[in-house]
Amino acid sequence: MLFDGQKAKETLDILTIHVGTLRQGPLELDRRIPLEWLTAQLESCEYPVTPRDVTLTLTVESSGNGILIRGAVDAQLTTECAVCLSETVLRLHPEISAFLQPKPKELKDIDNNEITLEELETEWFDGDTINVSSLVRDTLMLALPMNPKCQNDCPGLHRDAPPAEQTSIDPRLLPLAKFQMQKEK
Ligand SMILES: [Zn+2]
Repeated sequence: MLFDGQKAKETLDILTIHVGTLRQGPLELDRRIPLEWLTAQLESCEYPVTPRDVTLTLTVESSGNGILIRGAVDAQLTTECAVCLSETVLRLHPEISAFLQPKPKELKDIDNNEITLEELETEWFDGDTINVSSLVRDTLMLALPMNPKCQNDCPGLHRDAPPAEQTSIDPRLLPLAKFQMQKEK
């Protein structure tokens, strides 16, 4: 899907937090995630996944010298079962918890190979706004199961094959058993 940068930016305005407003107290954010944007974000997933209804609930507040972000993504997505390939609905509710610190001035001008490991592990925000779009995308990507299934014990494509124990049936009853199996189909 083609999704140009400018359009993405406009879409993501609703996921931008203005740091200045946090001085008045914690910010409650309740947003429905634009599905067109999210579909494009999920294209790098190992299997096809289509978001149907995804909401984000966050509390954002100043804490010490940084900004604390807590909340959850509530997502309903469709994909196909890894075993029987039938359409499968996924309901995910991953939690979000992040602490961001203002990027130190001296970090802005140097390139990556001069940044120490400790600095790399800290999440920074730069400027007056924080955009939580990548946080939402990463949280959702991590919550996706490796092999989505329609049910825990999906019988797979060959659900009509007789279970193993039925093959040792009394030969005299075989015609009846076959008749039963046909009726079940
Ligand atoms: Zn299945």
